Amino acid sequence: MFSDWYSALKRLALLFTGLLFLGWLIGYPALVMLGGTLTYLLYHLRQLRRLYNWLKENDLGTPVPPPEGRGIWGYVFDGIYLLQRREREAQLHFRSIIEKAQESTTALEVAIVMLNAKSGLEWWNPAAERLLGLQYPKDRKQAITNLVREPVFIEYFNRSHYETPLKLTSPVDPDLILEFQITNFGAGERLMLIRDISQLHRLEMMRKDFVGNVSHELRTPITVITGYLETMMDDRGNLPQRWSRPIEQMAQQSQRMENIIRDLLTLSQLETRAASRQQTTVQLHSLLSDIKQDAEQVFHEKRQSFTLTCDPEIYIRGNISELYSAMSNLVLNAAKYTQAEGEIKLTATLGQSLQVCISDNGPGIGAQHLPRLTERFYRVDESRSTDTGGTGLGLAIVKHVLARHEGKLEIRSQIGKGSEFTCRFPKERVELRETQQQAES
Ligand code: ADP
Repeated sequence: MFSDWYSALKRLALLFTGLLFLGWLIGYPALVMLGGTLTYLLYHLRQLRRLYNWLKENDLGTPVPPPEGRGIWGYVFDGIYLLQRREREAQLHFRSIIEKAQESTTALEVAIVMLNAKSGLEWWNPAAERLLGLQYPKDRKQAITNLVREPVFIEYFNRSHYETPLKLTSPVDPDLILEFQITNFGAGERLMLIRDISQLHRLEMMRKDFVGNVSHELRTPITVITGYLETMMDDRGNLPQRWSRPIEQMAQQSQRMENIIRDLLTLSQLETRAASRQQTTVQLHSLLSDIKQDAEQVFHEKRQSFTLTCDPEIYIRGNISELYSAMSNLVLNAAKYTQAEGEIKLTATLGQSLQVCISDNGPGIGAQHLPRLTERFYRVDESRSTDTGGTGLGLAIVKHVLARHEGKLEIRSQIGKGSEFTCRFPKERVELRETQQQAES
């Protein structure tokens, strides 16, 4: 490039030196110089016009080869032509990539919807038309919340992060159950993936119904058996000696079965019934105090010490019987697994969230068990749990109840030192009310 430029400059210098010499020879140097300069200008104007015409022709669509040019103009024509060709090739390459991406998303069962920073629809694949009823081009730039109007979806969509997917019935077909997963990207844009999980949902419902129905059907016969066995136990004196031990064992086992069925029913109700919208508010102190009294009564023989620390101003909103069942499960577990004369503490603290902590100085749980502790029927020590009448369902119930209250269960434990079960609730569930005792004082 530089050599072209320098030889053009050299030629220009030579031309003007020649003209100056010629003008000096014939006695009209200024006139000859003017004529030469004008001719030079005309030449360049002509080349510019050729360039202009060529660019105009190219603008019409079909690429036209550049005009023939010499020297620096030849280089300019060829350079522009080369750049044009490269750009066209890059365009073709990108277009083929976009076409391939579109073809592959067309074949997908999963619906993909791209949303701009204003929640407007930018692009979607055909599966989105089938699952959500989107129409192209009518719905382009429409806000997604105008098309999927379910309040739960709007509430979910307006969150800033999406840890868990949302399950919802399709707005176009009530038989379709969809799972929405949203990911943030770019500058405020969002990508929404929607899966049809109707089949999975039906299977899950069948499983839940089955567990619920079986537990329900078994409840009456087992209650009758337990009742008779208890009567026989009360009347042990009149029974032959050799029946005493078998009946005692039968009574123990039928009591265990009754407990399992009760817990299975509770779990199945928690799974199948939607979280109640009619929630009440209860004073946390009085809820924990009732639980503490119950546990003290049930385990009075163990002479354990129970301490409760909770600000009486804290009120919690939720389904009270569910909250009672969850926290009482934790307190009863603490009392059940902690040795006689052990210490059990119930502590509520309000910070960024509300934490209700139930701690004990019992045997503790090995770190390897902690991640699986809330699974159904998971027991750390089978014999320890069955001896104490455990069902292995208690912590699964706690986890479900907390999830229905946007809460979380955190477990910390050390072998030989004790365990700490913390229920963490969002602050929005808490109300602070001045209590009478405080108002009086
Ligand atoms: P279970 O009805 O057997 O008590 P849970 O689901 O309530 O079932 O608890 C699961 C297991 O966790 C129990 O079997 C027990 O081994 C262990 N566990 C629960 N709470 C405590 C605790 N406070 N201290 C020691 N171990 C505990």
